[in-house]
Amino acid sequence: LTEKLQNVFKNLRSKGRLTEEDVKAALKEVKMALLEADVNFKVVKGFIKDVQERAIGQDVMNGLNPGQMVIKIVNEELVSLMGAETTEIQLQPGSAATVIMMAGLQGAGKTTTTAKLAGKFKLKGKKPLLVACDVYRPAAIKQLQINGEKQGVEVFSMGDKVKPADIARAAMEHGAKNGNNIIILDTAGRLHIDEDMMTELQEIKEAVTVHQTILVVDAMTGQDAVNVAGSFHEKIGIDGVIVTKLDGDTRGGAALSIKAVTGRPILYVGMGEKLSDLEQFYPDRMASRILGMGDVLTLIEKAGAELDEEKARKMTEKMKKAQFDYEDYLESMSQMKKMGGLSGVMNMMPGLGGGMGGRKKMPDLDSEENEKRMARMEAMIYSMTPEERRNPDLLNLPRKHRIAKGAGVDISEVNRMVKQFNETRKLMKKLPGLMGGGKKGRFRL
Ligand code: GDP
Ligand code: MG
Repeated sequence: LTEKLQNVFKNLRSKGRLTEEDVKAALKEVKMALLEADVNFKVVKGFIKDVQERAIGQDVMNGLNPGQMVIKIVNEELVSLMGAETTEIQLQPGSAATVIMMAGLQGAGKTTTTAKLAGKFKLKGKKPLLVACDVYRPAAIKQLQINGEKQGVEVFSMGDKVKPADIARAAMEHGAKNGNNIIILDTAGRLHIDEDMMTELQEIKEAVTVHQTILVVDAMTGQDAVNVAGSFHEKIGIDGVIVTKLDGDTRGGAALSIKAVTGRPILYVGMGEKLSDLEQFYPDRMASRILGMGDVLTLIEKAGAELDEEKARKMTEKMKKAQFDYEDYLESMSQMKKMGGLSGVMNMMPGLGGGMGGRKKMPDLDSEENEKRMARMEAMIYSMTPEERRNPDLLNLPRKHRIAKGAGVDISEVNRMVKQFNETRKLMKKLPGLMGGGKKGRFRL
């Protein structure tokens, strides 16, 4: 998928102008790619239609070329399909405890996720109680007990001879006495959608007040996960979804469809078997994963959608006049990050990237160490006064000491940064053709 989409985008990017036919042709490819990523057919259809309407109706503007515009729209629409923002599990106001029922097929990850959630709630200062309502699967109770112990939370169980609804009822009493403010019911799944399972969940819901029904689905099952979500929502009503096993190699196309099919948000994603492997769901990250991880977003960023054209132009002007100051330096650092670090920028610089051949190879510019160094540099610049930032020549020894203290670094590091800044400034002076006068006149730092 990744490769395919990248080709689409490459084609889009290399074209100067996009006609209506171009948009349609490109979206046809996107459509194929999404279907291959296991996105529900109906969702794909609606999605393509939306993007097409937006793309064709909208003039290409804001300094983007038409291809960049389509990339941007594709990404935005994917994000909005998945809910646009992160959603938390709703806690029940005015109730002593929020009761959460976990539902899902066997092996989806309910028991594991129950314990993972308990850990999250505990970190927030809550006192969760886990309830073993799976009385069918051998060792299910034991599994919950072991996981509960690992998380340091209490597990309530009554063995496997009592009906799940009765266990749930008893657990409410126990939780009330015990001062638990979160009660999570771990229920039994079946291998397939099955009437018994649904009936059992309904009985639990009738026996006790369930505030949140959370469906757990396995991302690896692809399109099936979407059908499962649809059935559960229809039969028992769900409030949110947790998608597990996204640490596998699945693109997670199911995530896109789940929100669209059930209207319920994805709350968390399971990223591994360890009890700490539960992450908040971020629609934007998921969108880029479905489209091929960060590549697409990187493209957009490089394409300049995120870059402020006006700022870049002003900076170019300043650089030409060698008025480059620390404000610009800061700005250039943050833009550099967006463009994939210093080496990414170097590669984009005519005469520096390709033309680097003769000079010694750039050191490992994007290493973790370098990232930390950039962060410290930012801290140092933030420790400067506005005057100092705008007038770099003000920096004398006492000022440098004050900055070092403010940023919590050694004075030698301030000196190093000043030196580096001066070198950059010199470089800017020497390469006026680079800044704006470059091949396409579009270079931005
Ligand atoms: P349940 O039948 O729905 O209760 O599912 P379990 O919680 O017993 O999980 C089934 C299997 O999936 C176990 O081996 C878990 O360790 C595993 N599992 C659950 N969540 C994840 C996840 O996010 N990633 C991975 N790799 N494995 C998971
Ligand atoms: Mg289980």
